[in-house]
Amino acid sequence: MDDDIPYLLLTPGPLTTTRSVRAAMLQDYCTWDDEYNQRVSEIRNRLVRLAAPVASAQDPCPYTSVLMQGSGTFVVEATIGSVLPARGKLLVLSNGAYGRRIAQIAARLGINHRVLEVAEICPPDLSQIERTFQTDRKISHVAMVHCETTTGMLNPVAAVGRLVKQYGKMFLLDAMSSFGGIPLSCEEIGASFLISSANKCIQGTPGFGFVIADRQPLTASEGSARSLSLDLFDQWREMEEHGGKWRYTSPTHVVRAFLQALIELEEEGGVDARYQRYTSNQTRLVEHMEALGFKTLLPRSLQSPIITSFLFPTDAGFAFGPFYEALKRRRFVIYPGKASRADTFRIGTIGNVFPSDIDHLATAVSEAIEELNLSLR
Ligand SMILES: *Cc1c(COP(=O)(O)O)cnc(C)c1O
Repeated sequence: MDDDIPYLLLTPGPLTTTRSVRAAMLQDYCTWDDEYNQRVSEIRNRLVRLAAPVASAQDPCPYTSVLMQGSGTFVVEATIGSVLPARGKLLVLSNGAYGRRIAQIAARLGINHRVLEVAEICPPDLSQIERTFQTDRKISHVAMVHCETTTGMLNPVAAVGRLVKQYGKMFLLDAMSSFGGIPLSCEEIGASFLISSANKCIQGTPGFGFVIADRQPLTASEGSARSLSLDLFDQWREMEEHGGKWRYTSPTHVVRAFLQALIELEEEGGVDARYQRYTSNQTRLVEHMEALGFKTLLPRSLQSPIITSFLFPTDAGFAFGPFYEALKRRRFVIYPGKASRADTFRIGTIGNVFPSDIDHLATAVSEAIEELNLSLR
C-alpha cells in the first residue's frame, strides 16, 4: 500500500488506483482539442482490442466501442434503452441485485420484458432458459450479469451465450465488475453488447462507462433510443464522425486517467496477468479468513476472483459497523453485504492491491477480532 493514501479500498469500485493514474488527472483538457480527442480514440481502440482480440485485427473490425458519461448503471440504461426496438422483448436472467436492476431499468422504460430469477447462491438454470425460448417467441434480447457483485458469483456466460446464439437472440452482457480482470471475449461468448465502467477492473477513476458493441445491431439501433442524453447510437456516431468527440461535456480528467490505466494494464501483462493477480489475492484472502474462522457465502466453484461474501460469524456480538471501523483504523476499507437472505460482508480483491496487502489485511482482521472481543469458533 502506498504511504500517501489514507486506506486501501477492498471494494467493488471505485477502487484503489495507482499514483500515476491519479496524477494523470492533474491537468485540465479542452474537449474540442484534437490531442484530447485522439486520446479518446485511442481508448476506444484499446477497448475493442481487449474485448475482441481476434476480430479487432479484421478490417473493418466488426466490433466498435462507445464511451458514455455517468456511472455504470447509466450505461446499462443507455444500452437497454437504445438497442431494444419498440417491439422487442428482453429476457433478464437474474441472480442478484444487479440482474434485478436491469429488470428495473426495462420496467421504468416501459420495455416489454420477462425475468428469470434464481436464488442468489445459484447459477442460472440453462434448461429453464431454453424452455423459455421455446415457449416465448417474442423474446428478442437477453441480458445478464457476468460477475454478480451482490455475492461475488461468476455466472456461466459462455454456456448462456451459446444458447442465446442457438435461438437467434441478441446477447447484452453487464460485465461491469469483471471486464479487464477476467479474460473475456465478445466473439467467444457471442455478446453483441458488453458493458463496463472506468472504475472497476481497468483501475481507472469513476465518471464514465463504455460499451463494446457489434457494429451491425448498434447501427440498426439508430432512432430507437428512449432518451436524448443516453442515446448510445448518437453518442457513437459523434465519436465516429468527429474523431473521438463526445456529445455534451465529457469527464476530461477521468478520461485521461483511464487512458493511463489502460496503458498500465498492458504493462502489467494484459488481462491474463491481472486475472492471475486478482486470483492470487482472492485465494490468499479466503485462506486467511477461513484460518481465522470465517466462512464464505458461495462454494469455491461459483466464486469469482473479484469480490467475496463472508457470512457474519455466529458470535451474537458481531456487528458490521464496529468491525468496519476497526479495520478502517488499520487502513483497510471493506464493503457491506448485499445478499438478500444471509448476513454478509464483502471484501474486494481488485484494484492496485497485491497478495502482500491481503497478508496485512489478515493481521488487521485478527487484531479487530481481538479488539472487539469476538469469538469465531
Ligand atoms: C458496479 C456495477 C454496476 C454499476 O454500478 P454503478 O454504481 O452505477 O457504477 C452494474 N453492474 C455490476 C455487476 C456492477 O458490479
